[in-house]
Amino acid sequence: MKPNTFHLVSLGCAKNTVDSTTMGNLLARQGYSFEEDPRKAEVIIVNTCGFIKPAREEAIETINDLAKHKSKKQLLVAAGCMAEKFSDELKSHCKKIDALLGTRSINQIGQIIDDLKSGTSRLSVSNRFDMDRLSQFALQGNSAYLKIADGCSRRCAFCAIPGIKGDWHSRPVEEILRDASVLDEQGVQELILIAQDTTAYGIDRGEKDALPGLLEKIEKAAPNIPWIRILYAFPGFVSEHLIDLMASDNHILPYLDIPLQHASPAVLKRMLRPDNMDSVRKTLEYMRQRMPEMAIRSTFITGFPGETEEDFTTLYQFVESMEFDRVGVFPYYSEKGTPSAAYEDDVPEEVKTERQEQIYLLQQEISHDVNMRFVGKTMDVLIEGIQDDGMLIGRTYRDAPEIDGLVFVSGDAPIGGIVPVRINGVVGDYDLLGSVL
Ligand code: SF4
Repeated sequence: MKPNTFHLVSLGCAKNTVDSTTMGNLLARQGYSFEEDPRKAEVIIVNTCGFIKPAREEAIETINDLAKHKSKKQLLVAAGCMAEKFSDELKSHCKKIDALLGTRSINQIGQIIDDLKSGTSRLSVSNRFDMDRLSQFALQGNSAYLKIADGCSRRCAFCAIPGIKGDWHSRPVEEILRDASVLDEQGVQELILIAQDTTAYGIDRGEKDALPGLLEKIEKAAPNIPWIRILYAFPGFVSEHLIDLMASDNHILPYLDIPLQHASPAVLKRMLRPDNMDSVRKTLEYMRQRMPEMAIRSTFITGFPGETEEDFTTLYQFVESMEFDRVGVFPYYSEKGTPSAAYEDDVPEEVKTERQEQIYLLQQEISHDVNMRFVGKTMDVLIEGIQDDGMLIGRTYRDAPEIDGLVFVSGDAPIGGIVPVRINGVVGDYDLLGSVL
């Protein structure tokens, strides 16, 4: 075992990746270095996701796999959402955990390790918010996720996040700008703004529609970052001001991830979400009017309690008519502690997955057709890697990392560069083929 080393596994979403990077940076400041081999690391950290049951099962499996070879001198820390909200479940399934660390106090990672080394147990989780003044970004190649807020004060019926992460907490503007400027100096090409709900930025301070103002400040603080991408917007909170700014700005990408979850007002009402679909349609139409080639991504749930065949048809027809560029679709899971856990989970599992499959197949065709519209056009591509056969791999403004498509590019271009690429064809349903101009 190598002293003062840590091995860190990050599970779940990009917000967790940011927290993991923050923990890694804090440990590095304390003299620790990352160790690739978990058997040699002095401290093993698993940053868990507790959002839904499969994520919790994955966390337990990951921790127990790592614990199999854990020596008596090694320390095992479970951090993140599952540690925060389901600590009893974690402790009962993973007996070798030495410490738990909640999502709101990750800056205590160094202290926790010091306490463990001096023999103090840390198996209870502090709920105190202790995150201000920390850098909150994660680099991924030439892109960086930048967290602008944490927690959520909405109460969507199916969602466990508010119970795990607590209420909204917008990061102070100056701290976000400091991080953006550091990333600018590091030559980052794409800045991806994340939060549980980016359009709620500033609401906890009584500010309304504060995201456009923040974006303008970020652009001034990081003038050399060519792409700024916004993830996780909330229906009803994408203002005309924000759309107009996106349309008139060269750095903010014409891309928006706006999880809508359903299209039937009756289901949306039970989901405790905005149910005015006319307003949603108007917003989407306005986006497309101002930015005809705007890429819109959304997410839907099938089989929410009480979803009838008619509700599902409404959803199906909505997805068909809106021609989203990308869609994620998930069957409903009843999560303990959420408002919808009190509803009868009355849609059979096979119906949930059958409806999921129907939306998936529909969207597959739509995504293919939308992709075909770009054949013959020239698009800027951020080159991220190269395959063994020499083909470059990259993404356009239409593709967020990991969740959207790729472009396979022939020709020469530097990794990390944004280069013009002629689109020659479509690969499968989601990816493009092109050549460097
Ligand atoms: S907006 Fe709704 S779905 Fe999103 S994190 Fe908040 S409660 Fe969950």
